[in-house]
Amino acid sequence: MNLALSLQRVALCDPRRPALFEGERQVRDYGELADRVARLAAAFRQHGLAPGERIAIFMRNHPAYLELLYGAWWAGLAVVPMNAKLHPREAQWILDHAQASWAFVTPDIGAGLTAPGRVIDATGPGYEALFAAAPCEMVARAGEDLAWLFYTSGTTGRPKGVMLSHRNLMTMGLTYFVDVDPVEPRDAILYAGPMSHGAGLYAIPHVMAGARHVVPASGAFDPAEIFGLAAGVGRLCLFAAPTIVNRLVGHAQATGADCGGFKTIVYGGAPMYTADVERAIEVMGPRFVQIYGQGESPMVITALARSHLLDAAHPRHAQRLASVGVAQTPVEVRVTDTEGRPLPVGEIGEVLVRGDTVMTGYWRDEAATAAAIRNGWLFTGDMGALDADGFLTLKDRSKDVLISGGSNIYPREVEEVLLLAPGVAEVAVVGAPDPEWGEVVVAFVVPQAGHAPPEPAALDAVCLDHIGRFKRPKRYVFVDALPKNNYGKVLKAALRERLSAHSQ
Ligand code: AMP
Repeated sequence: MNLALSLQRVALCDPRRPALFEGERQVRDYGELADRVARLAAAFRQHGLAPGERIAIFMRNHPAYLELLYGAWWAGLAVVPMNAKLHPREAQWILDHAQASWAFVTPDIGAGLTAPGRVIDATGPGYEALFAAAPCEMVARAGEDLAWLFYTSGTTGRPKGVMLSHRNLMTMGLTYFVDVDPVEPRDAILYAGPMSHGAGLYAIPHVMAGARHVVPASGAFDPAEIFGLAAGVGRLCLFAAPTIVNRLVGHAQATGADCGGFKTIVYGGAPMYTADVERAIEVMGPRFVQIYGQGESPMVITALARSHLLDAAHPRHAQRLASVGVAQTPVEVRVTDTEGRPLPVGEIGEVLVRGDTVMTGYWRDEAATAAAIRNGWLFTGDMGALDADGFLTLKDRSKDVLISGGSNIYPREVEEVLLLAPGVAEVAVVGAPDPEWGEVVVAFVVPQAGHAPPEPAALDAVCLDHIGRFKRPKRYVFVDALPKNNYGKVLKAALRERLSAHSQ
């Protein structure tokens, strides 16, 4: 079981099929792509890289990314794609921890990185020289062999290396067609988000289906460029975090740009508020699918299908829109107490997942692996509740639960309500230490551009209209922006630190 087999298969039966694009310009067909991948693999082998060794990738999105993923797999190696927005010191820490032999960089971000073997600029002559080798045979891999060492985004603590096997990623790829979107060869996956993360993982189903792969020429996210590509390339599919989706929707709304060139926009990775989902569908049409996953079960825990998002006549449509959908095909999902005992429908507990997409463990960290996977179930650290129809609603991450006067409060619930108040653009709720209550609810509020901050009394009134009094924030802090990581997730730890710094 080698992920590169699907590339070889498409290239053999249809070598002239368009494969890789930089912007609107085709740079490779499938025959050329597979040939280069097999040559790259041969170069790895000739330089003594043995199956199981790892290569690090510290690059902005670039067409070479796809060659490197498949070249490594073809040679039996594993990849360690690193987030291009990391500080070089963080990248070096990951490379060292992963014990990667070689590193591939783009010079804009990778200068200064060191590796035990070679550090190669993937945009330069040193990279092209690797293709002089004659193509080699693909190295056979077992299902459990490491394919991708995925360092978690690290909203908390040191990043951990999630070990994803060929079977994990093969299953993830096949599941895409059932639970997210069927793919045709004329479709085009657009790498709008970092290829080191979810966007790059979606290369796998799109190679399986022999579809087109489009890397924006800027290598970054620019709504105007993406709308240009939608018009020029057509049938674009992309994965993006809610912040990015909101920016695309905002662009469409502001410019009246045609959305006909988009086929599917998959959103996930962070909560998307229902008002934003509704606006997205209204502005861009029936093009959305939501997935919920985490590095440890990449892209695959639950999905909220296009059909569910559009079924406005359903009596529980509003609840479904606020949910993350139902278990994806290859996994079982449970909500349990802290001991892993399943809870009845409607009760909030920790979300557990079991199935072939769940990682084989954390790299060089048996203790963390044993804590995360117990009796075959991955403890996600997310809190949620299942309804009678199998829809999962996330309440928050378990560590984000705050306890005030002995009552559990889930920040997400308070955030959803505050977003209903006029003049609120964004909000994040955290707990602040309090001598009397243990913790109190504090809301960081970003006012809408051009509006004065809403009155705390008005925010209180909206809360009191929707949720129990004890959940109402005791304090509002008005800020220009919320601190976010590279994937658009609000850094709640940073907000908490801010609060404790103020109280000292
Ligand atoms: P990461 O491992 O960095 O991809 O982060 C995964 C975490 O992001 C999950 O454990 C959830 O807390 C959150 N997440 C992922 N997808 C969704 C989603 N669709 N809705 C809400 N939160 C999500």
